[in-house]
Amino acid sequence: MIDFDFEHSINQEIALSDDKNITLHLKREDQLHAFVSGNKYRKLKYNLKEAENLGFKTLLTFGGAFSNHIAAVASAGYLLGFKTVGVIRGEELQHKIENNPTLQFAKKHGMEFKFVSRAVYREKTSESFLNVLQKEFNAFYLIPEGGTNPLAIKGCEEILSNEDQTFDFVCCAVGTGGTISGLINCSKPSQQVLGFPALKGSFLHQDISKFVSKTNWELISDYHFGGYAKVNRELIEFINNFNVEHNIKLDPIYTGKMMYGILDLIGKNYFPKGSRILAIHTGGLQGISGMNSVLKQKNLPLIHV
Ligand SMILES: *Cc1c(COP(=O)(O)O)cnc(C)c1O
Repeated sequence: MIDFDFEHSINQEIALSDDKNITLHLKREDQLHAFVSGNKYRKLKYNLKEAENLGFKTLLTFGGAFSNHIAAVASAGYLLGFKTVGVIRGEELQHKIENNPTLQFAKKHGMEFKFVSRAVYREKTSESFLNVLQKEFNAFYLIPEGGTNPLAIKGCEEILSNEDQTFDFVCCAVGTGGTISGLINCSKPSQQVLGFPALKGSFLHQDISKFVSKTNWELISDYHFGGYAKVNRELIEFINNFNVEHNIKLDPIYTGKMMYGILDLIGKNYFPKGSRILAIHTGGLQGISGMNSVLKQKNLPLIHV
């Protein structure tokens, strides 16, 4: 069983080399659970309870080739006794499961896959496609792509503890916007919540606005490195140096970009002197080995594991 009644994860201080009297802590949500890590744990918590309460035996969700969410759902389903179905973006992947650590992990934990073309995948919220899935897999509890829905946000409202109210800034990586929405909802109005989108796109601001009523937040869109899952040598080297210096692994899709952004902004005096910053390590480390196989093909340095 997943132990739902966990403590808050620890805040680890990150020593900063330049003397700007700024304090930076990293909240180690990546350590919450070995496989259902980081914000995916928070987002699934109340959804799994709901699925159980409603008597569902199957969870169905959507994701791409290296999705942290797919890995988390497979693992949570395995631990709690749900059958799991993953609708995976990209038909070509059905022949590459053996070379894909995320899909292999999910398969090992009992997930059944349905591989669909990118065109079909885009229809994932349409009634007609959901009807097709219903016929194929019978009754299932639907968890949206990335896991973001009101119950997921409720879970993310539990990330911050009372002691975290002493921070002036709370920073997180942004994918679908569920995590930052929960953080905004549980922040104090005097705190500023900064989101670092891992992808290009202007839709996020609107998506987040649907889930929050406060205005103490901002998206900083300068650190997506070209888009979702796009990386370059500079980012990889940053992640490896950070690991050497602080003995903390960051993932290349979300937390590496966020941390690069925070340290860059500190260097540019974005934060007032004396600021106390809390960054959320939302996990995602399972994605490193998949990314390394891509980096190898591109002749880029690998992320240290
Ligand atoms: C999914 C994910 C995010 C993005 O969370 P959203 O709630 O979709 O914004 C951030 N960090 C990591 C490590 C993730 O796996």
